[in-house]
Amino acid sequence: MTKYNGKCSCGQVQYTLNSDPIFTHACHCSLCQRYTASAFIVHSLMETSNFTLTRGSLSETVGPSGSGKGHVIKRCPNCGDQIYSHFMGLNNLLVLKTTTLSNANELPPQAHVFLDSKLEWLKLSDNIPKFDKFYRREEIYSDESLERMKIALQ
Ligand SMILES: [Zn+2]
Ligand SMILES: [Zn+2]
Repeated sequence: MTKYNGKCSCGQVQYTLNSDPIFTHACHCSLCQRYTASAFIVHSLMETSNFTLTRGSLSETVGPSGSGKGHVIKRCPNCGDQIYSHFMGLNNLLVLKTTTLSNANELPPQAHVFLDSKLEWLKLSDNIPKFDKFYRREEIYSDESLERMKIALQ
């Protein structure tokens, strides 16, 4: 099985993914722009049990989420980089910050979401589905991903 490796920018935190993600999307919401100080973030959703920390430890901050329930963000305690997050109360579903991977090209986004707040100067290619808000999972996930997501949300 493919293994993916990643790390924070200072290198104190390193990790391995033990499976392919359930789904990867690029989020253009204004919160993600602020969280990353960038134009958008790439998120890979997967089971928390498939993430292994191979070096260092993670600290935690709590920030706002679109739902209003909050978002627990796991960071390198030294450089502060985000590694992954959980939506409050959904600890079995890990939201990986995909571009912390050693080769983030291996997991390109399968959808762009919240295009209604996308920065105007950013031009996207036509080959990836785009959504003004969020997608309905049933529309774009494979059957296997739908099943894995159902279990991760329990
Ligand atoms: Zn670090
Ligand atoms: Zn977002």
